[in-house]
Amino acid sequence: MAKQSRDDPMIDTIPNSSLSVLFEEASEHMSWLEQLDITEHDYSYIEPFIQKGYADWKQEISGLLELDGGWWFVANHTGTIIDADMPIPELVAETIAATVQSLECTVRSFECFSCIAVPVLTRSNGQLFAVFGCVLDEGISADASLILAKMNAHYFRACFYKRFHSWFVLDLLSIQRQTKREEHRRSILFQVVQKLHGKIDVDSILSEVFERIAGMYPDAKVELLMSQDHVSRDPRVKSLLLHGEQEHICVRAFMEGRMLRKELQSTEGEPYIEIAVPLIGKQGVYGVFHLLLPKDQVEEIDLQLISMLADTAGTAFENAKLYEQSNLLISELRLINELTKRLNQSLRPKEVFKFATEELLSIFKAEFCCISQITKENEHFEIMSSNVPSLSKEFFPKDYGFSGLVYSTQEPIILSDYKAYGKFSSKMMEITDSRSLIAAPLIVRGEVNGVIMLSHREERFFSYENYKLLQVLASHIGLAIANASLHAEVRRMANRDMLTGLYARHYLDDTIQEFQKKDTNGSLIVVDIDQFKGINDTYGHQTGDKILKQVCSIISSTIRKTDIAARWGGEELALYLPGASMEHGLQIAEMIRLRVEQETEPKVTVSCGIAEWTRDDDRISVESLFYQADMALYKAKNNGRNQTQAG
Ligand code: GH3
Ligand code: MG
Ligand code: MG
Repeated sequence: MAKQSRDDPMIDTIPNSSLSVLFEEASEHMSWLEQLDITEHDYSYIEPFIQKGYADWKQEISGLLELDGGWWFVANHTGTIIDADMPIPELVAETIAATVQSLECTVRSFECFSCIAVPVLTRSNGQLFAVFGCVLDEGISADASLILAKMNAHYFRACFYKRFHSWFVLDLLSIQRQTKREEHRRSILFQVVQKLHGKIDVDSILSEVFERIAGMYPDAKVELLMSQDHVSRDPRVKSLLLHGEQEHICVRAFMEGRMLRKELQSTEGEPYIEIAVPLIGKQGVYGVFHLLLPKDQVEEIDLQLISMLADTAGTAFENAKLYEQSNLLISELRLINELTKRLNQSLRPKEVFKFATEELLSIFKAEFCCISQITKENEHFEIMSSNVPSLSKEFFPKDYGFSGLVYSTQEPIILSDYKAYGKFSSKMMEITDSRSLIAAPLIVRGEVNGVIMLSHREERFFSYENYKLLQVLASHIGLAIANASLHAEVRRMANRDMLTGLYARHYLDDTIQEFQKKDTNGSLIVVDIDQFKGINDTYGHQTGDKILKQVCSIISSTIRKTDIAARWGGEELALYLPGASMEHGLQIAEMIRLRVEQETEPKVTVSCGIAEWTRDDDRISVESLFYQADMALYKAKNNGRNQTQAG
């Protein structure tokens, strides 16, 4: 029967009401207890009760039924003396043996003493389980003392049964209490199972387990060592360092996937038990619960309970983790879906960059964002969009800073503390005083085309999940940017003339039409190279092309951004000046004419014809405007070329 310690914490957790139930249940057994008796099977362990019964008898009898000249003894069922007031002469053994044999009182007289042996029989079936008796000094009448011996023997038997019963009742109670404790433990486990499986977030599962252990073992020191990167605000959750300390109990428990324990001593010499029990799910081991408990508070059953608790926690943790991951995945997919939808709403690269910057700042709660792209010449990074004003439109060498690192490795990076990094400097991190960084390459058609950088002034701000997500988003942003750039390029090509880089004729036609819808006036200049056929004939077509390009670049650099220059056809060029009067048109045409004369090599001249439209015209159309300008050009040609004429 296990001994119960009064200090056992489990006892304290049994409510008082349960104790009274315990006694009630015990009292139901009382009548049965009354009739309960010992049998031969119990003889092997009743000697302590004979001894205690004898001691009780002696104490209670003191001064009442004492012998006048003699001393008492008690023997077991085989006749072996268990206790005596004085040494027993050897001859007494035979007297006792006679009683054991006959189950009757035996009285013997010897030379200098006499002796009485009284059988002590069981209450129910009269079996001898002890012999009670006395040795009488010479001269004391044995017969006279017989009745006293019988009375004392009777009293002794009562004392023996009292001892035996109280032990039995206590034993019964202790069994009951043990059962209650186990029931209590089981109910704790049941509650834990219910509670844990009802939870779907990882942190609250871990807190629940900590709470339960603290509730059951208030003196326990508990921590959870996680093998993976598990971010928890609970200071009791730490990382399990698998490298280096191979012999550590937690590392071993993790590796072997089973509970391990070790006995220890505190600095004060208190015995402790160190327990390492793994947090296991179906898919693997996630960590190890590490417990330190005072040794006297732990029984084998407690270890089983802790082990079952850890098992339940492991399964619940895994479920919650999977749930968390699938939620994360779903929200990531939603986010990607939303982002790509919105990114693709615009086909202007500038807008896509700006939009991506805003979205990334909000998705990652980052403070700063910077998206750079490799320039067309493939030499520099150009910052396309940033919420750091001093960075926008900046250029950096291709091997500079973190962008350089991402560019050369084609891999994303996560940096928890820039201050502690020190490998190279980064303008973005310096300007913004940032400490955390995540960066990912913008990959377009398998090549790094740019870099996204997100930073925060707090250290360790970004999680591993953030880092992975940015990588995914970067590929979508890369795609959106590539789409927008391609689209812009196609649009540009469709509207441009390949040789000169000026707009194509249809674009000029359409644009003038648009202007004529909303403006009040505008001027058109038609520019034609003089005797160009002769240039081609003299220098060849290639030189002709070169001169044509020279003239076009003179035109482009003379006009304003809002003016539109186009190749009208062949070596005839046209420029439309929105809102410009004839006088202004004349000035521009003259500027172009003079510059062509001065700057072309081999030298050519141009003739210009100008026409203006106003709201008051009878008929406003692109055709009539061109007709008038053409007429003016014709005039200039006829007038000797290298001049400007108004239509
Ligand atoms: P003018 O306009 O002064 O009356 O004489 P022109 O010789 O310039 O006029 P014409 O209309 O007779 O000839 C135009 C020439 O321009 C014919 C053609 O060979 C040349 N030309 C047209 N387009 C191109 C071009 O794209 N490249 C080159 N090299 N030549 C071109
Ligand atoms: Mg010409
Ligand atoms: Mg011509």
